[in-house]
Amino acid sequence: MKLQAQIDALENLAKLDATLSTLEAELSREGELLSDKKEQLRRLEERFEITRATVGDMDRTRGELMQDARQMSVQMERSREKLSRSRSEREVNAVQREIEELRKLYRDREQEIEKINGLSERARQEMDGANSERSALLGELGANETARASHLNELEANVSAEREKRKELVKAVPPVLYRRYELVRKRRGSAVAYTYGGTCSACHIAISPMMFQKLRRGEDFDQCPSCQRILYFRIDPLPEDAADEEAQGSESTA
Ligand SMILES: [Zn+2]
Repeated sequence: MKLQAQIDALENLAKLDATLSTLEAELSREGELLSDKKEQLRRLEERFEITRATVGDMDRTRGELMQDARQMSVQMERSREKLSRSRSEREVNAVQREIEELRKLYRDREQEIEKINGLSERARQEMDGANSERSALLGELGANETARASHLNELEANVSAEREKRKELVKAVPPVLYRRYELVRKRRGSAVAYTYGGTCSACHIAISPMMFQKLRRGEDFDQCPSCQRILYFRIDPLPEDAADEEAQGSESTA
């Protein structure tokens, strides 16, 4: 296989891999965004349920306290009647103490009920807050759902189309070269670079004059001693690199 054909095959593969990695990054970002929102919703619903259970407990406790208080006022009524029937001073004192004790217990219940009312009011406000946050989030998720689903589908379709194309492009690259390509690509993100003026187009480090001459003879590839990318020689820089190279003030070793 001619070197130029191998270079073309590698460059085609590198271009496709760049597109593919952009698409895959976008796909995973979109997926994460969606699962973040869903996680936020799940936590909100959990918080709402916990608060609702607490409010239920408080309502039950308040019910019991109110029943207690009612019983105490009935008892107090009875004690007052007893007081009106009391004849001896000893009896009067005893019933008065009883009434005083009941009154104190009754006040305690009332205070507890008041405390629970305050807590329960706050908990209900929390529930309202969680509820409106939830509605907003659901609205957000719902409003963009169709658009997002079709965007995701489109991305997924593009990714699998590019992966199919890739299989064909890989066939055009000699296996040994492909293995080297994959090894570098996994470490560096891209695996192909070229030189036209003595530096590596990817990392801009100068290569030795000997390596440069060898590449220029166009007999074989080499690997950049600095970034390990597969290097070949070009007469001109690729258009997308030309401006960049000029900015770097590249030196000609030719
Ligand atoms: Zn390099």
